[in-house]
Amino acid sequence: MNLFEVKNLSATIDSLEVLKSMDLKIGPGEVHAFMGPNGSGKSTFSKVVAGHPDYEVTSGEVLIESGFEMKNILDLEIYERAREGVFLGFQYPVSLPGLSNFDFLHLAFNTQCEHQGAAVLSRDEFETLVLAKMKTLKMDPYFLKRGVNQGFSGGEKKRNEILQMMILSPRLSILDEIDSGLDVDALQVVAAGVNSMRNCQHSVLLITHYQRLLDYIEPDFVHIFKDGKIVKSGDAKLALEVETKGYDWVTR
Ligand code: ADP
Ligand code: MG
Repeated sequence: MNLFEVKNLSATIDSLEVLKSMDLKIGPGEVHAFMGPNGSGKSTFSKVVAGHPDYEVTSGEVLIESGFEMKNILDLEIYERAREGVFLGFQYPVSLPGLSNFDFLHLAFNTQCEHQGAAVLSRDEFETLVLAKMKTLKMDPYFLKRGVNQGFSGGEKKRNEILQMMILSPRLSILDEIDSGLDVDALQVVAAGVNSMRNCQHSVLLITHYQRLLDYIEPDFVHIFKDGKIVKSGDAKLALEVETKGYDWVTR
């Protein structure tokens, strides 16, 4: 059984059709990568899956495995999709001044625990957990005290997205250009965070322009996304081919 399936998904924004009958299947524990030209609809896809209200779904289904059945999440609210285990790491993470990163992560974690019928953690217990994850990401504990992403550099915001992913233990993580704006040290740290969560309970979709990220997180499948849908799929070698030949050859 697949963990995640997209069938015939079309979506519009301001009456512009951005997703065009796209299909995708992701198995448990698999890492998939989306590559493709700017403006082809990759970020749109991630936002439609997460439930962004600006996009209108005009056809299709987005299914996630839920207790041995595939459940369509398109009718669910954003928070309900998150509870089903969908996580979106933003291309451009927003700041939430006034809300401390610690309180944000703690509340999100405990809400997820309550939903799963697991025991919630006290502030002290949660601090131990979050500090261990931050160590993997080489993040200074001081980042817990600051407002969520408030004044964070581009690379710090991306690390913070990965920290959220590690805290929430999602079943499907869509990471949109998590590598953009990262220097090579930060890239390795972010990749280590993602790789630390490679297991059969967690599938990942990486959206990226660069082979560089895929040197550190080796994908099981690579898809070329163009004009609102997947036009070619292959294994990790496809990304290397794109690196040398560009995108044009794919549909020629
Ligand atoms: P990618 O992530 O592949 O670079 P996007 O999904 O961001 O592409 O964008 C796909 C297309 O949708 C682009 O043509 C973009 O201009 C358009 N688009 C995305 N968001 C909006 C919006 N809020 N209003 C109008 N057009 C949009
Ligand atoms: Mg994008």
